[in-house]
Amino acid sequence: MKARLFAANWKMHQAPADAAAFMRTFLDQYTRQQDRRVLFFPPAVSLHVVVEATRDRSDLGAGIQNLHWEDKGAFTGETSAALARGAGARYALVGHSERRQLFGETDAQTGLKLAAAVRAGLTPVLCVGETLAEREAGETLGVVARQLRAGLAGLEPSAVASAIVAYEPVWAIGSGRTATPADAAEVHQAIAAVLRALIGERGGAVPILYGGSVNRANVEALLATDGVDGVLVGGASLDAEQWLAIVRAG
Ligand code: PEP
Repeated sequence: MKARLFAANWKMHQAPADAAAFMRTFLDQYTRQQDRRVLFFPPAVSLHVVVEATRDRSDLGAGIQNLHWEDKGAFTGETSAALARGAGARYALVGHSERRQLFGETDAQTGLKLAAAVRAGLTPVLCVGETLAEREAGETLGVVARQLRAGLAGLEPSAVASAIVAYEPVWAIGSGRTATPADAAEVHQAIAAVLRALIGERGGAVPILYGGSVNRANVEALLATDGVDGVLVGGASLDAEQWLAIVRAG
């Protein structure tokens, strides 16, 4: 059985002092569970706090929310995968819908970022998902397949096999709306089919997370959904007590 994954995307919240207080509360109350891993994606300025707090726990991990595809250079304000790895990150979110929607990130750039993450030794979490207009036009599965194929295009099969995918319908992020278990199951199944088409049976072992307004009230139902191997959580991961309830679910 795949380990369950619980990933907290703190977005542009939690300064170093807030991150330290959060991690103290979390670590005081969360003991290792064999069947799950908990990942944190703090803002880059707080990465060192989470890296330090999780250093002795192989069931916990820290990652970066975004990266530049070049390894180094004159790119003021950017962070490369290599810099993030040097700061202790082990994971990278790539292609989050806020990067795509608000910052114009293209499928091709997402592919470059994924390749950069793998080059630097980070495990990428590729985020895919349709907008409301795309869902209403019946394009969900086509959009998700396109984003997956473009994102993974530059990776060797072994790197695809070690990646993580997160299905995050754009209309569900931060909106209080979640996909129904049936909708999530359909898309997760389609994602697994694309992964198997790309790398064969090993594609079936790639974890597929669900994200979009997950909270302590709906997490059980989502984790019980066919093909959902874990959750990627924004808003509800900012409160330590709620996050503790979420990571104990399932
Ligand atoms: C996210 O940012 O990846 C996310 C799923 O946000 P929220 O849980 O707030 O919808």
